[in-house]
Amino acid sequence: MINHLPPQKNWQQQISDAITDPMQLLERLQITDPKLLSVYQAHAQTSKKFGLKVPHAFVAKMKVGDSQDPLLRQVLPMYGQDVHTQGGDDYVLDPLQEVHASPVTGMLHKYQSRILLTVTGACAIHCRYCFRQHYDYQANRPSSQTQVVQDYILAHPDINEVIFSGGDPLSLNNRRLFVWLDAMATMPQINTIRLHTRLPIVIPERLDDELLTKFDSLTQVMTDNAINLIMVVHTNHANEIDDATARQLWRLRHAGVTVMNQAVLLKGVNDTVTAQVALSQRLFDAGVLPYYLHLLDKVKGSAYFYVSEEQAVALYWQMLARLSGYLLPRLVKELPNCPFKTPIDIYKSAKNCQYMG
Ligand SMILES: *Cc1c(COP(=O)(O)O)cnc(C)c1O
Ligand code: SF4
Repeated sequence: MINHLPPQKNWQQQISDAITDPMQLLERLQITDPKLLSVYQAHAQTSKKFGLKVPHAFVAKMKVGDSQDPLLRQVLPMYGQDVHTQGGDDYVLDPLQEVHASPVTGMLHKYQSRILLTVTGACAIHCRYCFRQHYDYQANRPSSQTQVVQDYILAHPDINEVIFSGGDPLSLNNRRLFVWLDAMATMPQINTIRLHTRLPIVIPERLDDELLTKFDSLTQVMTDNAINLIMVVHTNHANEIDDATARQLWRLRHAGVTVMNQAVLLKGVNDTVTAQVALSQRLFDAGVLPYYLHLLDKVKGSAYFYVSEEQAVALYWQMLARLSGYLLPRLVKELPNCPFKTPIDIYKSAKNCQYMG
């Protein structure tokens, strides 16, 4: 681990200072593998629509000199490696065909009781497995009018939960974020607000005092406008939660926020029982409950992370044998036309029944 961080900067500066040049990242990590370096030298001039982007605080959690580091693997573009990988033929731009579920720009209403808002397309980090990497956020920007969303909710009485996603909703500044939170929290129909965000993991300083005070006031139990506030952080590997990150995550609990995690099952990152057990335990140490473990969406450019459903099930049986019930994430995948996250059938693979005695 690198111990000497640059002087403390606020989270917005940290985002603008993110590393975007692969050569600079490899240099910082003292990775000198000439084969690897030549790949990035060769690609230095190619266009980068979803290029490398990683803030220094996240880089500081990577191991110096380790080209196989599980955090590095999540962000370093693997030029050309997605082409001939297993399962690599049907990787598409919009694996979930979400374009059909968007009644209002920037809103997805696929699941009965809840809507998902993409309030921004910006992220503090670019994750190579991300299924939104080809999403045209500029063309699908949410209306800056909260009113349009409120009208839609009023017209659909089944909706009681609003999910802020993205992009990363915490890349909005507090002022803009609070406008959205207040607009949703004041609707009698809405009892739960959920934020899906990776920022507390990537730049823990994003959980600043102003934000935590706001969360605290929104969750005051037994007051008129109190709502359930949920944060789902996206952590794939235990090393993403160092002590400073864990302390920040605990502050959310003190502010009345329920904190959960979703991970994506990624080859070379977290596809071993050791990695999954360490992740669940580390999350719990930080006050976070495992929620989902997703199979990879087959998005173009991410095939080198592919773990087959059969391998995933075998891994899950090992996790069952090792983890307390509350430390087990639900193993799911997303099917394009399914109105919920689909649980993986773990019983159909009979060879796993060695554990059934
Ligand atoms: C994942 C998702 C949700 C939330 O699903 P949960 O199972 O409640 O976590 C809601 N809407 C959309 C479009 C989603 O993709
Ligand atoms: S932070 Fe989330 S939305 Fe943004 S690139 Fe990473 S996985 Fe995708």
